[in-house]
Amino acid sequence: MASDKKEKLSGIKGMNDVLPQDAALWELFENTAQSVVQSYGFQQIRTPIVENTALFARAIGAVTDIVEKEMYSFTDSMNGDALTLRPEGTAGVVRSVIEHNLAYEGPKRLWYKGPMFRHERPQRGRYRQFHQFGCEAIGFTGPDIDAEIILMCRRLWDDLGLDNIRLEINSIGDASERAAHRAELIKYFEAHAEQLDEDAKRRLHSNPLRILDTKNPAMQELVNGAPKLLDFLGAESLAHFQGVQDILNRSNVQFTINPRLVRGLDYYNRTVFEWITEELGAQGTVCAGGRYDPLIESFGGKPTPGVGFAMGIERLIELMKVAGEPALPSQCDVYMVHQGSEAQTQAFILAERIRDAGLDVVLHCATPGGAGSFKSQMKKADASGAAFAVILGEDEIKNGTAVVKPLRDREAQQVAVAFDDVVEHVVDDIVGNDHDHDHVHYHH
Ligand code: ATP
Ligand code: MG
Repeated sequence: MASDKKEKLSGIKGMNDVLPQDAALWELFENTAQSVVQSYGFQQIRTPIVENTALFARAIGAVTDIVEKEMYSFTDSMNGDALTLRPEGTAGVVRSVIEHNLAYEGPKRLWYKGPMFRHERPQRGRYRQFHQFGCEAIGFTGPDIDAEIILMCRRLWDDLGLDNIRLEINSIGDASERAAHRAELIKYFEAHAEQLDEDAKRRLHSNPLRILDTKNPAMQELVNGAPKLLDFLGAESLAHFQGVQDILNRSNVQFTINPRLVRGLDYYNRTVFEWITEELGAQGTVCAGGRYDPLIESFGGKPTPGVGFAMGIERLIELMKVAGEPALPSQCDVYMVHQGSEAQTQAFILAERIRDAGLDVVLHCATPGGAGSFKSQMKKADASGAAFAVILGEDEIKNGTAVVKPLRDREAQQVAVAFDDVVEHVVDDIVGNDHDHDHVHYHH
């Protein structure tokens, strides 16, 4: 398009930039989550963002919100393949586990994070590109692993300092128990057909269980009176569910049983759970998970049980903001201030040596007009959150010293230190004062 005016370019609706200020929060969340799941022996897996459309259609189920209307699907113009941007993480992880025989030598604990894509109406807490952090435990049969991943979530909320997330659990049994319930459910809803909304009518014969999940207030009473899946569970499913509850109780995890809790994805069985907050308005579910024992076999793999969860990172970042201003790590440990070309050269050399010692250093960068006054550079040094400014000017070059100025400890005096001693001086102080990063603290 030939045009004199430069058109303003903008991003895609529902697909957000994460700017540096927020990126620090994201990093804090991701690092905390990673260290929590690693403390339970989970290992990272990274799978592609694009997969064959057939994978999701089969894994998630044809009559789900995601496959019916939310997938970003396209045809590969090179070869005509039907491809889709992943709307969730489990399908790709399970495909990879089967393809690489990962569970061959025994059960695997896996975690992943990354962008997911769903064509939904953008609103607070609901985006078209969003991010999940998730875990999949593959090959474990017992209720203990279901409880373990729930405990793991609780530990993450604790480490993040989030105390306003509650747990709901349910069991959705196995396929034959759901079939018996489904028949009764359809009968019940048919008897009250005039009260069903459009969504419910559409789902009545395709996925009636999802009607229980309706967010329509006008349908709440109807749905409350519906036959409960829990009443259709056999001895094995009940024992499994009881096993999960026993561990949660012994571990002092508070929960409520929500008999209407179902998952949007078809492949779940037995344990399902959600972590919910009231602080974020309508999109209050920050983590959802459950068991999916039939999935791997249905993909042609050797029968292998699975259980996992996915967290919505955007919602958790929002929740961290509600909790206050977390004490974020500073941009660097040391900020190098310099004036004059010899001082700049020396600053480069010293900065590299401090980095060699493992610290983060920001070197003030000159513009064509020079590096700017000491005063304006010191402002930048203060704003960087560095523990020290290392200052080099003409006098320092003459003397072979640098001024090391503590920026956080207002009582401490600045000192002139010989070039060769600068590294040791700042390293000793910073490493000696390193504090515990395990828990996130908030300023209010
Ligand atoms: P909902 O019923 O709210 O649509 P869902 O069942 O589609 O949720 P899951 O597929 O279980 O959600 O995804 C797990 C988590 O990922 C959700 O609990 C939520 O925190 C987050 N999530 C899901 N969809 C979005 C989205 N469009 N934008 C932001 N976060 C999302
Ligand atoms: Mg959804």
